Amino acid sequence: ENVIHYRDTYACIRLDYLQDNVETLYQKVRKPLMAIIKANAYGHGYQQVANILKDNPHISMFGVATLKEAIDLRKIGIQQDILVLGAIPIEDLDLVIHYDITLSLFSKEYMAEIQKLYHHHKPVKVHIKIDTGMNRIGLKSKAEFEDILACCQNSMFQVDGVFTHFATADDEMQNDAYEQQIQMFYDIIGQHSFRYIHCQNSAAMMYHQDDRSNLARIGIAMYGVDPSGEECQALKQVMSLYTRVSMIKQVKKGERIGYGLTYTALEDEYIATLPIGYADGLIRANQGREVYIEGHYYPIVGRVCMDQMMVKVDQNVHLHDRVEIFGEHITLARMAKELSTIPYEIVCLVSERVERIYK
Ligand code: PLP
Repeated sequence: ENVIHYRDTYACIRLDYLQDNVETLYQKVRKPLMAIIKANAYGHGYQQVANILKDNPHISMFGVATLKEAIDLRKIGIQQDILVLGAIPIEDLDLVIHYDITLSLFSKEYMAEIQKLYHHHKPVKVHIKIDTGMNRIGLKSKAEFEDILACCQNSMFQVDGVFTHFATADDEMQNDAYEQQIQMFYDIIGQHSFRYIHCQNSAAMMYHQDDRSNLARIGIAMYGVDPSGEECQALKQVMSLYTRVSMIKQVKKGERIGYGLTYTALEDEYIATLPIGYADGLIRANQGREVYIEGHYYPIVGRVCMDQMMVKVDQNVHLHDRVEIFGEHITLARMAKELSTIPYEIVCLVSERVERIYK
């Protein structure tokens, strides 16, 4: 904590917990893992996360969402295969070859566009994406799959894998939907064999068993959060968000607080100001929720501003006290429920100006 720069708001990232979670998940599936580190490693900082995972023997590959994220990984020296899970602008194909990036091949049109622009000696590495129900990207039928596979033979495409992403895997109520999706995946693949066959995300790894795939993609669970949104004992939450009290004042009964004066003091009250706001990712919907200070919970009063917010405290709270926004006492699962969202969204929204302190 001595290395904090410029401000008192920071995210603490426990890389030891990250490693523990990888081990826990590996023990569950006992197959190589693709670490999903898109969106700045779900807000945790892709450089530090990639750097620690590159030497983890269970991590065979990395998965990202965009070509920029993939190239950034190469630039910091990541040597494992890197799969871009989404579509890339085809004009950037030269960069794909130059940086040895693996693409998701998800439609005939995308394939044709790549073929048109291709002018290299090296092959384009791809994993073929099958759509088993999400209706996002991917091939939806065996006929399409066989067609693409045939087109890939003796072409510039090197098919390293085949995969799908489940629309449901964390919901016991939708167990049938999971079964249908996995069945469809293996029906489409048929007897073909591939270097990598992968379909398990965190939820599928945690709630279902699958022995045919030989790689599993770990995202949210690696960061210590249960994909179902429930509290989880088996995993350790990697990110915590803290700030410190920057001012405390007493307001008189009837005084009002913040933009729009939406909160009125019910009695003479102590109000603490915290240097964190929606520009840090703490969205305005947090108004009315609680923060944790020195053993007690206190409500956020008035509107959350861009860079600051106010909480109603008591005499136990002092200037410069550390404030937990989320962490050990307020889990991401709890916060997500209170905000009617999912933990993924909260960690991804922690903005760039919030310094990450690694432990
Ligand atoms: N695979 C794909 C294709 C994804 O889009 C994602 C995340 O959205 C993941 C894997 C990781 O999912 P999770 O974080 O739920 O493990």
